[in-house]
Amino acid sequence: MEQTIRTVVRFHYAVGEVGQPAFESSRTAGEPIAALLGASNIIPGLEQALEGRSAGEQFEVTVPAALAYGERQEGMVQRVAKKHIPKGIPLAVGQTLLVNTQQGQRRATITKVGMSVIDLDLNHPLAGRDLHFNIEVVEVRAASNEEIAHGHAHGDGGVHHEG
Ligand code: ZN
Repeated sequence: MEQTIRTVVRFHYAVGEVGQPAFESSRTAGEPIAALLGASNIIPGLEQALEGRSAGEQFEVTVPAALAYGERQEGMVQRVAKKHIPKGIPLAVGQTLLVNTQQGQRRATITKVGMSVIDLDLNHPLAGRDLHFNIEVVEVRAASNEEIAHGHAHGDGGVHHEG
């Protein structure tokens, strides 16, 4: 899909599940984050909500799971022998661990612990969850050619790298 990618938005956010207190806030880290809109730096629902905003705007938005981390997929639970789990990881329901898959490393959640096997859910921990965001737009500016070429924002709240 061809898109015009040209705006960097810097914003503070707090996010929680709908009806729940926020579990993460950029104010905890102290710095707003910067995203290049249209470059999939952030979840699609948030990208849409930030489109056309101006500095100083504050708003709340509910993002359905499909536009956040996706719906849960049932085929993503795998049974794994305990002996294949590295030592030192507590084998308890709700514990997360990194596993290697054909799509690269993913965070998996233990959903069942048996005698010799465990069940691992490879869905994103937030898959299937509707999220509620509190947003404060700090800055809206044109993206540089370099940012557009890299597909992310540079500078405050963005990606910092050499060259
Ligand atoms: Zn870059």
